[in-house]
Amino acid sequence: MKFSEVIGQDSIVKRLKDMTESGKIPHAIMFCGKEGSGTMPLAIAFAQYLLCQGQSAVESQSAGLFGMEEPAPTVLERPCGKCRSCLMAANLQHPDLHFMFPIYKKSKGSNAPTYCYEYIEEWRDLLLSTPYFTYSDWMSACGAENQQLKIFESESDEINHKLSLVASQGGYKICVIWLPEKMNESCSNKMLKLIEEPPANTIFIMASEHPELLLTTIRSRVQSIPVPPVPEDAIYEELTSHYGIMENLARSIAHSSQGSMSTALKAIRDNSEEEQYFDLFVQIMRLTYLRKVREMKKWSEEVAGLGRERQKHFLEYCQRMVRENFIYNFHNPSLNYMREEESNFAVRFAPFINENNVIGIMDELSLCERDISQNGNAKIIFFDFALKMTVLIKNR
Ligand SMILES: [Zn+2]
Repeated sequence: MKFSEVIGQDSIVKRLKDMTESGKIPHAIMFCGKEGSGTMPLAIAFAQYLLCQGQSAVESQSAGLFGMEEPAPTVLERPCGKCRSCLMAANLQHPDLHFMFPIYKKSKGSNAPTYCYEYIEEWRDLLLSTPYFTYSDWMSACGAENQQLKIFESESDEINHKLSLVASQGGYKICVIWLPEKMNESCSNKMLKLIEEPPANTIFIMASEHPELLLTTIRSRVQSIPVPPVPEDAIYEELTSHYGIMENLARSIAHSSQGSMSTALKAIRDNSEEEQYFDLFVQIMRLTYLRKVREMKKWSEEVAGLGRERQKHFLEYCQRMVRENFIYNFHNPSLNYMREEESNFAVRFAPFINENNVIGIMDELSLCERDISQNGNAKIIFFDFALKMTVLIKNR
């Protein structure tokens, strides 16, 4: 991850670069900010920046461009994104880049130690696909249910061992700690010792959402950098330029996200899911009206491919659409809550949902929901629903 991929935290990025250029890198640094402010993207980008070995080429080039009187800038393009170190760091596979993050014990009640490396695949996948991930994103990525995630004592022993080795690439050894406030007591005490007397060329980079929960002795040993919420304009810019979101929608998402890039991205996901549900809803209403049984079967296979959780969301969506269309017939717009494309569809569709069939359709949707929750065969359940709809939709 490059600094340019960190959204809206330019002044912190500048501070980090200045710090490095002047040779004043603290051996323990902690980014403190709310969820979605970008503490982890900053931590990873800073780690890659420190590990990048592409600096010398840039240095010699620029020395030639500037006269003797003017000192050449020492750092121009870092991380370069091209050197071996950058490539390894960008894939989170750099041998001198270590991670500590909260996990749970896979076998309940077991006293056997649990280590972060047991979760490293899930960790990399999440971090690479969603650098602005949240705690609950991590909970579902690592398969946690109601467990309390912790950083265990065994992890501090593990990291102590790893950092005692010589850096395999000859540069820094970096330990990124996500949510250090989740370290349990014995882990905290061991980490305190390690931070007080760090092995040579070692830098700890922490990303914390609740630094007040950390031992004060740890806090006093690290340089804290407060990370403010992401400015609304920066979120808007990101949504329109990188995600192709229309200006109006981007403006409203940016505003309601309150400085959290994670919230903004979730809003996009929800929005695109709703669009997909709308398409599926429109399709099945048309197919059942036209009694196209073969296509109805295909449709049920497509819905079955959504996965159990999204099938439930889709059924909730269908219930909402049926209700909204029924209400639409009363010609009182203040009662309706539909997006533009949904309203446009309702103009012609609403008359098909009326007092003769609305209860029947809602009952069928509830039955579907129950059967899906009980792990019934989704293809059969949705196809069956479609067949019943062919009868219900004709009840005008
Ligand atoms: Zn590089």
